[in-house]
Amino acid sequence: MLMFFMNTFCYAQHVYQRTLKLMGSRFDISVVANSQQEGDTYIDLAVNEISRIEKLISSWDANSQTSEIIKNAGIQPVEVDDELFQLIKRALKISDLTNGAFDISYASMDKIWKFDGSMTEMPSAEAIKQSVAKVGYKNIILNEADHSVFLKNKGMKIGFGAIGKGYAADKAKALLMNKGVTAGIINASGDLNAWGTQPDGKDWMVAIVNPLNKGKVFSWLPVHNSAVVTSGNYEKYVSFNNTLYTHIIDPRTGYPSTGILSVSIFTANAELADALATSVFVMGVDVGLDFVNQLKGVECIIVDKDNKLITSKNINLKQTQ
Ligand code: ADP
Ligand code: MG
Repeated sequence: MLMFFMNTFCYAQHVYQRTLKLMGSRFDISVVANSQQEGDTYIDLAVNEISRIEKLISSWDANSQTSEIIKNAGIQPVEVDDELFQLIKRALKISDLTNGAFDISYASMDKIWKFDGSMTEMPSAEAIKQSVAKVGYKNIILNEADHSVFLKNKGMKIGFGAIGKGYAADKAKALLMNKGVTAGIINASGDLNAWGTQPDGKDWMVAIVNPLNKGKVFSWLPVHNSAVVTSGNYEKYVSFNNTLYTHIIDPRTGYPSTGILSVSIFTANAELADALATSVFVMGVDVGLDFVNQLKGVECIIVDKDNKLITSKNINLKQTQ
């Protein structure tokens, strides 16, 4: 009798989902709850949290603290909230870890590359070098004493395009877990963090899709209370002299990355996964794989330019096609 009761109780829970645009991207928020009303309440909390973060880190919003830092580049340090200060501090740590492959000051780069098919010739070596002249995370100066951030050179900019969605997913998850939500997924356009299981006890599953044909799934993987972030699941390439250049540009050289179509990173939090996905893109297959294999608790799946799957050492895939 008790068993029966428990079963009925378990299945009273459902997945409630909402899709909306936040931080300029599609978010799919799923929670397990007992009723539509409860589900809606939880989803509202997540939406508010993500919007709050967007206000802090957006470089589009002229009134954000991030915009304030940018406006004062080369002029003076700007005191910011602890939350933003710590995010920038962690971003700089990732820059150190990746030897500058990841760099939030990428944002001042001149947009000399276009990946929409409109480029007819390769930019000159001089123009490429010039395009990254103002980039350099070592010129982002943090002052612990007053929580200020100073961009040393005029024209410097910062942007959280490769870490912000992951951070928001982590924060929304943490908030909902705190409120007692037993399971859910915060999915920011392929940057996701999941916890708990589906109402029937099965794991949440994530698909690794073919970057050249999104209708095709290479493989399905379970996600246990962790993050999966994929970078580059769309067709944004340009080709010169038989080299395929892809949408992420190496902030150190100004040249777009080559050799990789998509990178998925698996680790405990989406913020780190987000930043590392971009970093591996910049590093390329060999350096990127070697790098991930040295990190504890981080795994990756790379789809290379020939659409071949390459995995870090602790991932075993059952390829579906
Ligand atoms: P996706 O566009 O597939 O989500 P990413 O997660 O790698 O790809 O994020 C790409 C975004 O990150 C770019 O649109 C830009 O805003 C920012 N970005 C690009 N290159 C770098 C870099 N080297 N370091 C940090 N951020 C970057
Ligand atoms: Mg990303």
